[in-house]
Amino acid sequence: MTFNPNSDISGGRTSHRGRNTGLALGGGGLGVIALFVISQFLGVDLTGLAGGGGQQAAPDTELEQCLTGEDANERVDCRMKGAAASLEVYWSAAAPEQLGIAYQAPQPVVLFDQSTTTGCGGATSATGPFYCPPDQTIYLDVTFFDELESRFGASDGPLAEMYVLAHEWGHHVQNLAGILEAAQDGQTGPTSNGVRVELQADCFAGAWVANAAQTTDDQGVSFLQPPTQAQIDQALSAAAAVGDDRIQETTQGQVTPHTFTHGTSEQRQRWFSIGYEQGAAACDTFRVDGSEL
Ligand SMILES: [Zn+2]
Repeated sequence: MTFNPNSDISGGRTSHRGRNTGLALGGGGLGVIALFVISQFLGVDLTGLAGGGGQQAAPDTELEQCLTGEDANERVDCRMKGAAASLEVYWSAAAPEQLGIAYQAPQPVVLFDQSTTTGCGGATSATGPFYCPPDQTIYLDVTFFDELESRFGASDGPLAEMYVLAHEWGHHVQNLAGILEAAQDGQTGPTSNGVRVELQADCFAGAWVANAAQTTDDQGVSFLQPPTQAQIDQALSAAAAVGDDRIQETTQGQVTPHTFTHGTSEQRQRWFSIGYEQGAAACDTFRVDGSEL
């Protein structure tokens, strides 16, 4: 999706945490890979977070330079800020209207380099993007987007990146709705609550993409232009790239459905599309039978 160049994204709530030094990453190469798989992309599974780490005081000057949609079209950090502004406007209305719940904004999205501390423990770039329920914050190292492309074969592009943020925002909405706790029962597998939570977040992301062009800044200028089919395909490619089956093929050479935590490539694409075509109210992944999930 492309931002309207003259839209005002300055209200997007994001912060940046600078490079951190001295974090001891346990485990060496293999450990890092395992850690990545556990919490790969968007997981609410927080067991893989590395301990330790600390962040420097936030030098937000670069993000403060992100003022317009033109900036968001040029820089990934500005793009996250712009998407945050749009997501906030969308969910402020959609949460009560579509889901019947009161909406509260999450804490500012934290864009970090290499490592940071969170309310859920220490996080590194290897953790992948995630939402931390206790501090209601999305954490995202934007270098993950490179990995999404190089390691998992997603087609790169702005909408693929914004899908990641929108998915995490979906977890915040689930947290507000009291749904997120269902994922914490420790179960895995194709019809587990964990998979249902993840597919619902994908569906919520699709609902936002479909409505993003209707979200406007304080002056009534739309943040984003309607997505093109090629851009939708980018988001679907990203969703497929992070399917459990695809990741398991890549990392362990075989697919083991009983360990699924996020759903297959096909499921993630399909639920994104359901949200895109039918809206957030249609994202009831908990009501459908396991065979229809
Ligand atoms: Zn997730």
